[in-house]
Amino acid sequence: MESLDASSTSDNAPSVLRPWSAISGVTHGFFGRAGGVSQGHFATLNLSRMVGDSADAVEENWRRARRVIGAASHVAMVRQVHGNTVHVVTRESAKARPDGDGMVTAQPGVVLGVLSADCVPILMIDAKAHVAGAFHAGWRGVLAGLARTGLVAMLSAGADPSRIRVALGPSIGPCCFEVDAGLADRFAREIEGAAAHRREGRPGKAYLDLRAIVTAQLLRAGLRPDAITHAGPCTRCAAVEFFSRRAAGGAVTGLQLSFVGFEP
Ligand SMILES: [Zn+2]
Repeated sequence: MESLDASSTSDNAPSVLRPWSAISGVTHGFFGRAGGVSQGHFATLNLSRMVGDSADAVEENWRRARRVIGAASHVAMVRQVHGNTVHVVTRESAKARPDGDGMVTAQPGVVLGVLSADCVPILMIDAKAHVAGAFHAGWRGVLAGLARTGLVAMLSAGADPSRIRVALGPSIGPCCFEVDAGLADRFAREIEGAAAHRREGRPGKAYLDLRAIVTAQLLRAGLRPDAITHAGPCTRCAAVEFFSRRAAGGAVTGLQLSFVGFEP
């Protein structure tokens, strides 16, 4: 069950969804767009330095975000490229920022972060082995099997499949993710079970349920249904609370942060 952090009750503080608030020792959450200082399409808590936002505003936003994240002052990130490369992050490599769309760590104190607007942010934990993973899955990443690659990386880092929990964060929903029918056909062809999460759209178009497709991929990889949580709404429908490029008519928007790690 998801819960809103107490900080969301103030208009000026970043709000964060914490689906695992009942699990002790996990540093995690899905930020929305509230609580920052950026303007326009970046309003307000944009945490990307690469979308053309004011550097000073992004710096202030990160200061506010770090205060919410707590213990760790550094969040390890990747240069997201819509692929399926997953990196193992250690305290030593946490500042490297290589190309990729996912990270896992087995070191408490290392916090991993991914940025998204409509793409699916995926967090994974094994709270006993203290292994955490963060992944950024747009439609390309979903087609590339990022969720499964991430799961395999979790296991390589010492996680046990029976203990892994996954949270899929705010992302574009089946209500709004309309794509060319050809692309939807490709999902149905390349991902077993994906056809069930497609419905017809306007002529030549179809709607896809990305979170349901990622969930199907994880179930097929061996996770139990109760290990997977969907946190937060469709970003386009809830564009007041979350950045959504679709809601902005395709304009470059700010990006929200999803983060996970274990307390040192
Ligand atoms: Zn929607």
